[in-house]
Amino acid sequence: MSVQAEPPSGECRASITSWRVEAGEQAPPTVSRPGYRIRLRARCPGCGHEGPLRSEEEEAVEDACDHAFPDWRDMPVMEPRPYEDARRERWYAAARAVYPRGWFEREGPVREYRPHGGMRPLLGAAPGGGYSVGVACEPPASPPAPALQQSLFG
Ligand SMILES: [Zn+2]
Repeated sequence: MSVQAEPPSGECRASITSWRVEAGEQAPPTVSRPGYRIRLRARCPGCGHEGPLRSEEEEAVEDACDHAFPDWRDMPVMEPRPYEDARRERWYAAARAVYPRGWFEREGPVREYRPHGGMRPLLGAAPGGGYSVGVACEPPASPPAPALQQSLFG
């Protein structure tokens, strides 16, 4: 019987961990920039799953999303998240209307169209506090009006 260092907390979540590496430390093939001194990996607080070692935050976050939300890449791409509060609330409502029920309550990621780059994943930018993952070259989804109305008034 194996002993786990940390008991699983329950539901799978998209979470990563990072640390500095020592100079000269060998990098496995999953590390795209071996000379980069930061290592990251997906680490699920729900079940203890760990992803491959990475040097790029985007890769580790995608690994984490692949683990906790296997169909996240099929989710709708939202327009860029507005900065202004009232518009942002409408954006949250539109995202909740087109993503599966309960998705954001589990801190699921949102896919956000970023026409001008800046592809770094943003923790806390999804409606439920999960990651916003940048998408460069897909047009954003227009949420169907009936679904949005149902979300707001249903
Ligand atoms: Zn897990």
